[in-house]
Amino acid sequence: MPAPEIYAVALPTPLRRTFDYTAQNPHMAQNPAGLFDQTQTAFDQAQTAQGLPGMRVAVNFGNQQLVGVIVEVKDDSDFDLKKLKPIQQLLDTQPIIPDELLQLCHWAAWYYHHPIGEVLAAAIPVALRQGEAATLSTEKAWQLTEAGRHCTADELKRAPKQQALMQQLKEDTLCVQNSILHKDLLLQDVNRNALKGLQDKGMIESLEITPSPIRPPELLKSTPLTLNDEQASALAQVDFDQFGGHLLYGTTGSGKTEVYLQAIEQVLHAGKQALVLIPEIGLTPQTLTRFQRRFNRPLAVLHSNLNDTERKQAWLLAAAGDADIIIGTRSAIFTPMKNPGIIILDEEHDPSFKQQEGFRYSARDLAALRCQRLGIPLILGSATPSLESFHNAQQQRYRLLPLTQRAGGARPPTIELIDLKRQAMQEGLTQALLDTMEQHLLASGQVLVFINRRGFAPTLMCHDCGWLSQCQHCDARLTVHQNPAHLHCHHCDYQRPLIHQCPTCNSRELHCVGQGSERTETVLQNRFADFPVLRVDRDSTRQKNAMHTIVEKVNQGDPCILVGTQMLAKGHHFPNVTLVAIIDADGGLFSTDFRGPERMGQLMLQVAGRAGRAERPGTVLIQSHLCDHPLLQTLLYQGYSAFAQLILQERQVSQLPPYRYMALLRAESKRSENAHELLLTARQIAERHCPSQPDLQYLGPLPAPMERRNQRFRHQLQIHASSRARLHQLLTPLIAELEQHPLSRRTRWSIDVDPQDMA
Ligand code: ADP
Ligand code: ZN
Ligand code: ZN
Repeated sequence: MPAPEIYAVALPTPLRRTFDYTAQNPHMAQNPAGLFDQTQTAFDQAQTAQGLPGMRVAVNFGNQQLVGVIVEVKDDSDFDLKKLKPIQQLLDTQPIIPDELLQLCHWAAWYYHHPIGEVLAAAIPVALRQGEAATLSTEKAWQLTEAGRHCTADELKRAPKQQALMQQLKEDTLCVQNSILHKDLLLQDVNRNALKGLQDKGMIESLEITPSPIRPPELLKSTPLTLNDEQASALAQVDFDQFGGHLLYGTTGSGKTEVYLQAIEQVLHAGKQALVLIPEIGLTPQTLTRFQRRFNRPLAVLHSNLNDTERKQAWLLAAAGDADIIIGTRSAIFTPMKNPGIIILDEEHDPSFKQQEGFRYSARDLAALRCQRLGIPLILGSATPSLESFHNAQQQRYRLLPLTQRAGGARPPTIELIDLKRQAMQEGLTQALLDTMEQHLLASGQVLVFINRRGFAPTLMCHDCGWLSQCQHCDARLTVHQNPAHLHCHHCDYQRPLIHQCPTCNSRELHCVGQGSERTETVLQNRFADFPVLRVDRDSTRQKNAMHTIVEKVNQGDPCILVGTQMLAKGHHFPNVTLVAIIDADGGLFSTDFRGPERMGQLMLQVAGRAGRAERPGTVLIQSHLCDHPLLQTLLYQGYSAFAQLILQERQVSQLPPYRYMALLRAESKRSENAHELLLTARQIAERHCPSQPDLQYLGPLPAPMERRNQRFRHQLQIHASSRARLHQLLTPLIAELEQHPLSRRTRWSIDVDPQDMA
């Protein structure tokens, strides 16, 4: 039987299509022993062994060479067969993307109306995208030297950290393996100085090894906790042999992670793999440590701080079934797995699970689809579930697994509102708040102050003429930073030196208006001179390990003040924090984005959840001008479920997601008219396919909430539909036609299905 000749290849280009190539190489005649021969043999072998889809190829495209992925083998093409170019090289001997994952990518390309080539590029690590061989690299590891093996505990008496590390290394390396990977040591949070110390003493030495999975007979490294009734009931409701969506809904500290761990234990017992997605790894090293300490099984971590080689390595280990637990951020949803057994998303409400640029996918929604196709369980966990998941649980699409108590006996915090109306304030802080802070600090407690804005102040204003520090490129103000002093646009990154004289009237009366984390830090430093004030925001944690240093300091337990932005709301457990202060609860209630109130409630409860995790009960103080606001009252006095219910009612009345399905067409251009005109054209095309009617409505084109950003004018067209099917029936022909339209080439545009951010 002659081999099929046409290969549909997905290439990383912005075009929503694949490209046909042949295996025939016209240079064969001149080059009998050359490329074609190898390629043809490789093709034949691959064809018989595995099938070609999912393998990478190098092809000529225009005047460049690109690496693409074969997605289909066909016997015909819509193009002139004689003009098809040959594949230059087959890069793999077996598919690097298993069929299941390839299908997921196809589905994602269809659902998000994004080019398949770019979807695959997002799914594959950079190194593989560039054509590197899909083989494992060696990694740095440590082993004991002769001296190290014979060293007695006494010898290291004076260096307790080295002694402890030595003990740990002896257990890890001698009991189970001859060496331990450097990255595994880092995951266990070892003391780097102690490591260096032991190396200097000649007790350990480093070497390069190709990692191979080590699976000691004992699955567990440490004993699981005894589940409380709710945890046990939650776990019992997970059926590991088929698909089921589960919403593990429990306040911070209610023991969700323990449920994940025990669910994973069952999966590992069955010889399968677990994929765990978390919002941001840098912020949650403790989570990693907990997984590492529980299981005697190989674990791979995929996050944005890895270099290309490390990322490729982790991906390949997962694909080969050599990593049993895979922990990663959003894009890890595309990790190939040999024996997938479960997918878990922790903090499922977190906006970072939706990619906001380029290929705008939701890792949470793709996880649900992937589990369904694989016939494996999905666990979504959160103290403050997204309203989409909450709604799914109410509609019985997901099984609701509530955890209402704090595990381990910690008590829930007391929440109090401070009414800001007519109150004297010092830089945004009321006397009542400062007094309470003092009480907690004097009683050896730690205080966490949450302010959702970085920098010193959101704007600089001239007291004489009213001039404001406007960004030249955006409809936004420049934020004042003091450390180092400059003005900074948080939207386009434009920066300029801080000025002390008004550019309009030359007055020297320039005032910083409003509060940012730097300013709050300064005020608190002056007010509480006896206590350290530690600031946590993107600026203060830019340097590697900065966050780690702060966390270590806080965990020493001495009274101190932590001031920070939403980075503080995520992940970290601060057992000695007894007071959480939320400086301003009002922002979210006025937001132009319909998700503003939902986000505000989630953020507030997440921050509040940092208080009183250990034996000491916590207090949460919230400052607001809108203490009587029904959403705030419901959130604080009736809890998140009632709050979510209230917002869902509002969404239903105003016909917003999750009751409607939405897509957002965005266009931006240096000339406002261009962006507007493109969307107007889009709307005309749309109306031609389907006139506006109750189950499919168009809104716009309208200027975006921030119309000008980074010198571009931004417009949007909203499409609302009563069902997903309805939405895609329209989007498929609309996008196809729009892509061909001449206007679409001169103006930047994008489509966002299920947008999470309306900006
Ligand atoms: P969450 O993930 O919901 O924030 P964790 O799983 O981190 O909660 O649990 C919070 C704390 O309670 C942890 O210190 C954990 O060790 C402890 N814990 C969890 N489950 C139990 C249990 N069944 N018995 C005793 N302590 C528990
Ligand atoms: Zn002025
Ligand atoms: Zn700007």
